[in-house]
Amino acid sequence: MSYDDSNIFAKILRGEIPCNKIYEDEFILSFHDINPKKKIHALVIPKGKYVDLDDFSLNAAPEEMVGLIKGLNIVAKKLGISTEEGKGYRVLANISDHGGQEVPHLHFHLFGGEKVGKMVE
Ligand code: 5GP
Repeated sequence: MSYDDSNIFAKILRGEIPCNKIYEDEFILSFHDINPKKKIHALVIPKGKYVDLDDFSLNAAPEEMVGLIKGLNIVAKKLGISTEEGKGYRVLANISDHGGQEVPHLHFHLFGGEKVGKMVE
């Protein structure tokens, strides 16, 4: 699947629609999910145009990969849910059709702020 510039996260990245921003740097943008499934439900997206995790794994530069993975920890710390606060959280990426992905720009969901329950329901 080729990248569709009209997806909602591309519009958020271009500043065309607003988001409730948590953190931004050279590699990632993080914001609260519009329809939270847990007490804390954040999204972390790369700034690069990647459809999903497979696309990212195959095509992203090493520094983008490091930036995204380190960004997850930075965001968790900002939200007060990291292991350094003795909490913990869940990271989830839906990938394509069988994975239930709705927005075709790679994103990680961060769920926390409470015990998040069974892994798959
Ligand atoms: P997916 O099902 O693709 O893994 O997750 C897409 C997520 O994006 C959903 O949890 C949905 O609530 C969230 N979402 C969709 N549109 C918007 C939006 O315009 N703003 C924000 N902040 N989240 C959105």
